[in-house]
Amino acid sequence: MTDTTPALRPRPALTQDIAFFFEGAKEHKLLIQRCTSCGRLRHPPLPACAACRSFDWDTVESSGRGTIFSFVVTHYPKVPGFEYPLVVALVELEEGTRLMANVGGIDPADVRIGQPVVARFVAHDDDLTLPVFYPDPDPEPDLDAEGTA
Ligand code: ZN
Repeated sequence: MTDTTPALRPRPALTQDIAFFFEGAKEHKLLIQRCTSCGRLRHPPLPACAACRSFDWDTVESSGRGTIFSFVVTHYPKVPGFEYPLVVALVELEEGTRLMANVGGIDPADVRIGQPVVARFVAHDDDLTLPVFYPDPDPEPDLDAEGTA
C-alpha cells in the first residue's frame, strides 16, 4: 500500500539563537534581532553583535514590508514538501535587514527585483509557520527628506 500522506516541509534546526524567529512566525510576527547595546539590527540571528560584540539583544517586530533584492525560480530537483516552480527570494525589509523566503501570489515569470512585497504567514503544519512574501497591493510611496511623497 502506498503512503499518500503529503511530505512535511523540512524542519529548521532550532537553536536558542534562532528559536525566537520561528516562535514569532507562529504568532504572525516577523521579528528581527536587535543589539540592545548599540541598537543595530541583524539577520540571520547571531549570538553576538558584529558591530560592538555585545551578547545582549532583544527583538523588534518588522512591518513585513520590503522589496525583492534578488531571487531565483527553482524547478528542479523537486524536494518533497515544496510546490514548483518555487520562488526563493532575498527580501530587503524596510528596516534594512534581508531574509530568505518564498514568494507567493504571483506568476513566477512576473517576479522582479525591486518589487514591493509584504509578508503573510503560512502555517505549513501545526509546528511550522513561515513568512511568505506577496506582492504589496498598497506599497508606501517613496518619501523625501521632508516626509512628503
Ligand atoms: Zn551592537
